[in-house]
Amino acid sequence: MRAAVLHAAKDLRIETREAAEPGPGQVRVRIANGGICGSDLHYYFEGGIGDAIRVREPIILGHEVAGIVDSVGAGVTTVAPGAKVALNPSRPCSACRYCLAGTPNHCLNMRFYGSAMPMPHIQGAFADFVVAEEVQCVPVPDSLPLASAAVAEPLSVCLHAVRRAGPMLGRRVLVTGQGPIGVLAVAAARAAGAGEIVATDVVDEALETSRRMGADRTINVAAETDALAGYGADKGRFDVLLEASGNQAAIRGALDVVRPGGVLVLIGLGGEITLPMNTVVAKELELRGTFRFHEEFHWAVDCIASGRIDVAPVISDIIPLAEADRAFALAADRRQSMKVQLAFDG
Ligand code: ZN
Repeated sequence: MRAAVLHAAKDLRIETREAAEPGPGQVRVRIANGGICGSDLHYYFEGGIGDAIRVREPIILGHEVAGIVDSVGAGVTTVAPGAKVALNPSRPCSACRYCLAGTPNHCLNMRFYGSAMPMPHIQGAFADFVVAEEVQCVPVPDSLPLASAAVAEPLSVCLHAVRRAGPMLGRRVLVTGQGPIGVLAVAAARAAGAGEIVATDVVDEALETSRRMGADRTINVAAETDALAGYGADKGRFDVLLEASGNQAAIRGALDVVRPGGVLVLIGLGGEITLPMNTVVAKELELRGTFRFHEEFHWAVDCIASGRIDVAPVISDIIPLAEADRAFALAADRRQSMKVQLAFDG
């Protein structure tokens, strides 16, 4: 089988590996589509994420995948060969204190696909075949394109983020940063009952996708520099901020337009940034992080499979694995692409 193996920054090789056989309780999935995530882009272009997470040995990238069950090991009952599945890349240990407390996204022994955090690295799913645990394989309808099923993972991240924000019904929501996570956060907030959603970015093409995913109003904060300030009257209009840009200016600007007692959920990874903490104190704002997901993966598959959330507008390009370098370059160009997927059948 082929696998997309990163050896160092900009050194991605399509290598041939032996496809493993599924053991008891395991499923071998023929991967069809794999979305390129922001973390994959950091690994590919920078050889890591910040100073702490570095690619120190060859790693198969990828964790947003869906495919068709190829074969199953002994004892597997929930899927059979030929079934379409979304593959949950999260593999918590189910035994550590955080797993036992119901927060497996904080698992001490997490083996999340395509992660260079631990050593040895956790190999990812950009490969023709992946052997997974049965519990990772979530069936989807035959009628659902596998490209859409492969969006379940980033949508899970956004459903978890919306859940972190608390009750969404009727809320006025600001979403900063309209990459794939931002636009899926718009859709997740809409599905959760948000009353008004305003989305900001500096790229018009991204804002167009955001409107298609449910934003009521979009603001290009580079072109309409004062448009957001209008929401600062009476100490701020928004109840909730979903922050998906990781950009200091975006977060600072949001502090002025979220009302006292509002909730700011930080999804984007901004590294070290400076904020006017006096504003956080005086407005009694709540800063909340959000990280990965757990049961939301099943909710995401259900939203996509039922059509409640149409993820098709998010998928901008599907490129054959053999042209992986081109796919990564395109994925990094926000004016030309939104979510870029690799296709493993071409
Ligand atoms: Zn655990």
